[in-house]
Amino acid sequence: MTRPTLLTGWGRTAPTAAHVVRPRTVAQVADALAQAGPRGALPRGLGRSYGDAAQAAGGLVLDCRDLTGPPRLDAGRGTVTAPAGTALGRLAAHLLRRGYVLPVMPGTGYVTLGGAIAADVHGKNHHRDSSFGAHVRSLTLLTPDGRRRPLTPDGEESDLFWATVGGMGLTGVVTAATVAVRPVRTAYMRVDTDRTGDLDATLDLMSREDAHYSVCWLDLLARGRALGRGVLTRAHHALPADLPRALRADPLRLSPSPRLTAPPWAPPGLLNRWTAGAFNAARFHGAPERRRGEPQPLPSFFHPLDAVRGWNRMYGRHGFVQYQFVVPFGAEDVLTGIARELSRAGTPSFLAVLKRMGEPTPGPLSFPRPGWSLAMDLPAALPGLAGLFDGFDERVLAAGGRLYLAKDGRARAETVHAMYPDLPAWREVRDKADPAGVLVSDLARRLRLV
Ligand SMILES: Cc1cc2nc3c(=O)[nH]c(=O)nc-3n(C[C@H](O)[C@H](O)[C@H](O)COP(=O)(O)OP(=O)(O)OC[C@H]3O[C@@H](n4cnc5c(N)ncnc54)[C@H](O)[C@@H]3O)c2cc1C
Repeated sequence: MTRPTLLTGWGRTAPTAAHVVRPRTVAQVADALAQAGPRGALPRGLGRSYGDAAQAAGGLVLDCRDLTGPPRLDAGRGTVTAPAGTALGRLAAHLLRRGYVLPVMPGTGYVTLGGAIAADVHGKNHHRDSSFGAHVRSLTLLTPDGRRRPLTPDGEESDLFWATVGGMGLTGVVTAATVAVRPVRTAYMRVDTDRTGDLDATLDLMSREDAHYSVCWLDLLARGRALGRGVLTRAHHALPADLPRALRADPLRLSPSPRLTAPPWAPPGLLNRWTAGAFNAARFHGAPERRRGEPQPLPSFFHPLDAVRGWNRMYGRHGFVQYQFVVPFGAEDVLTGIARELSRAGTPSFLAVLKRMGEPTPGPLSFPRPGWSLAMDLPAALPGLAGLFDGFDERVLAAGGRLYLAKDGRARAETVHAMYPDLPAWREVRDKADPAGVLVSDLARRLRLV
C-alpha cells in the first residue's frame, strides 16, 4: 500500500488524504479495484473538478492520467477512440492536425476523457450541441467486480452508460471511449466581440444570436445601471477565406503559444474587492465595443486560462470556490438577483461566465438543462460566503435550477437531492454495477449520493 497523499480539487480547498495508485494498464486498474479497502476506491483524472469530486478520504484513488496511448481516428465513421487518461487538449491537437475537432470542449484542455464523461462536461456550444455525453458513441467501463463492460447509449446496458455519463466516477472506471468528431477546414475561430451595457442587454443579445459558440464574461462588480455588463464573444469555425492571406497556405497549422507560470504564492489579500474591481473594469474597457470576424487560434478561444500554468494558486492558501448553477429560461430574475447581491456585497469575483444551455443528455446526474448557466470564482476565505451561497442555492432550487457537481465542494445533501430528482433512479443502476459499494468519493459522502 502506498503512503497517503493529500489531494484537493482545482479550488485547493478541503484537502483529504488517500492512497494513490497510478495504473498504466486496464489490468492494473482491475488489480487496484480488487485491493480497495473498507474506505473504498475512486478514479481520478487531472483533478480539474473544483471541489471534492476526485477525492476519497482514507480510500484508494486511482490516478488515471497514465491510461494513455495513440488515439485512433476513424475518418469514415467520424469518430476517435482513445484511452480514458488522454487529456482533451492533447486529443484536440492530434485531431486538429488531421482536420477534425472534438464536438464539445470545456474551458480547459487539462481534462481527461474519463473526467469529461464522468462530469458530462459542456462547452460554449451547449445551446447547439448539448454536452460531451451526447457525442460518446461507446465506452468501456471497468466495474469493481473486474468486468469490462462495453457500453453504448442505446445498447443492452444503456442505463449504465447514462448513469456513467455525469456519474462522477461512481459507477466504475472508464478505461476508453469512442467519441464523434467534426471536420474543420482551419485551426481558427472567426470571433465576434460585443461589450454589453447591462444584464438585460447581455441576455437579449445571447437570446437572439445563433452563433455556434457563445460565452459572456460578466463584470459582477459593476453597480447601478452597469450591473451585469459584460463582454460577449460569439464564434464559428473559420473557413480559409476568413483568414489573413499569410495563414491560408497551411490553415490547419498553429504556431505554439508560450505558457506563463503563476507565482507559487500570492500575497494575502491580493485578490480583494479593489483589485477585482480594477481588473474587471480594465477587462471591460479593454475589450472592443464591437468587433467582427477576428481570427483566433482554436486553443486561445477554447482555453484562454490554460495560457497561465497554476493560476489557481493566485487565490492563496485558502483556495477558491467556483459556484456554478443553471436556471431555466424565464427565471432570468434569479440571475439579476444574484448579480445584484454579489455587487452589493462587493464580493471580489474575477471570473464570472454566462452561457446559454440547450438540450440535456439522458444522464440522471448530468448537470446541463435548457436555460442560463452562470459560473463565478470567489476566494474561499471570504467572510460570509457560506451564507451567501446558501441563499443562492434556495433561489436556484426554487426556480427549478441546479448546481454543477463538478464545481461543488460545499452544498448540502438535501438541496442537491431536490435539484436532482432522478438521483434515486441513478442509484438503482449504480447499485447494480457496484453492489458492494466500493466506489465512493468525498463528494458522494457529503451529498449522500451513494
Ligand atoms: C479552468 C477550468 C475550466 C473548466 N471549464 C469547464 C467547462 O467549460 N465546462 C465544464 O463542464 N467543466 C469545466 N471545468 C470542469 C472540468 O471539466 C470537470 O471537472 C472535469 O470532470 C475534470 O476532469 P479531470 O480529468 O480533471 O477529472 P477529475 O477532476 O480528476 O475528476 C472529476 C470526476 O471524474 C471522475 N473520473 C475521472 N476519471 C475517471 C475515469 N477514468 N472513469 C470514471 N470516472 C472518472 C472522478 O471520480 C471525479 O468524480 C473546468 C475546470 C477548470 C479547472
